[in-house]
Amino acid sequence: MSKARPAADVVLGLDVGGTKLAAGVVSRGGEVSAFTTVPTEAADGPAKVIDRLCALAGDVLAAAGLEPGDLAGAGIGCCGPLDARTGIVHDPPNLPGWGDVPLAELVAADLGTRTWVENDATAATVGEWRHGAGQGVRDMVYLTISTGVGGGVISDGRVLRGGSGNGGELGHTLLVADGRLCGCGARGCLEAYVSGTAIAARARERIEDGASSTLAALTDIGAADVARAARSGDPLASAVWRETTDLLGGALAGYVNLFEPRLVVLGGGVSRSGEQLLTPVRDRARALAMRPAACGVDVRPARLGEKAGVVGAAAVAFDRAAEAV
Ligand SMILES: [Zn+2]
Repeated sequence: MSKARPAADVVLGLDVGGTKLAAGVVSRGGEVSAFTTVPTEAADGPAKVIDRLCALAGDVLAAAGLEPGDLAGAGIGCCGPLDARTGIVHDPPNLPGWGDVPLAELVAADLGTRTWVENDATAATVGEWRHGAGQGVRDMVYLTISTGVGGGVISDGRVLRGGSGNGGELGHTLLVADGRLCGCGARGCLEAYVSGTAIAARARERIEDGASSTLAALTDIGAADVARAARSGDPLASAVWRETTDLLGGALAGYVNLFEPRLVVLGGGVSRSGEQLLTPVRDRARALAMRPAACGVDVRPARLGEKAGVVGAAAVAFDRAAEAV
């Protein structure tokens, strides 16, 4: 099979999440080929998950007609915490039993190509900035709202990483003092209110407290069900949705005041409700943030969908490869 592109103009993008692994060959322009996902099966522990990741990487390279030597390197977006400088992952809550794992080193040894690791939400932020909704913008905030809430910040044309690559955890900024318990162990984080999991839980709790709703007929309520019922005028679902957009808009106003972004990009499963989410969130963020930052900010949907992590990890790998020359 002939090679798709000249050597070193492609990298391998990998995405390691608690539920799925994704891989693709990515060009410098952000085009993805041979994109594939498999279940992480995180309960198997780090050795088997990393074997699965490397096997997936091998399959993707073979599908693209490439050898590891054809790559400028590989980038891995992985759930944190981790150290982006050393490539060591530090016991992520979504990957049980990992402890401290030198992920970059292990994958590099298996694939035979230079490999870099980045926080997955930061990688997705870079993906949307370079090749998605944020192209051409120098100041941008990204939030991915699904099972949890991940975030990232581009400030003055640079990725905000913090000391070791764990900065920009916007989902874990305090929203409500002594509020709902968050997956990170703290109380009152944004994630504990507006993640898909939290939206569904808040609706379920009101039903258990005796409120009537069309949702009560469902055995398993998801955030998409709440959105759908709110569109149909269900009072309970409408109240939960309004509370969600109020809280998210309020949090975004804080990020607008902190970073003065021109653009806030919302991705993840919950953002698929489109303008039902975006319009009230945009209005509230603009109403609550300080001027003139509030007037200059737009809120738009992400464009890369499930490929954001792979595209972003690849963009990070191109950057690191250039720095390493
Ligand atoms: Zn939290």
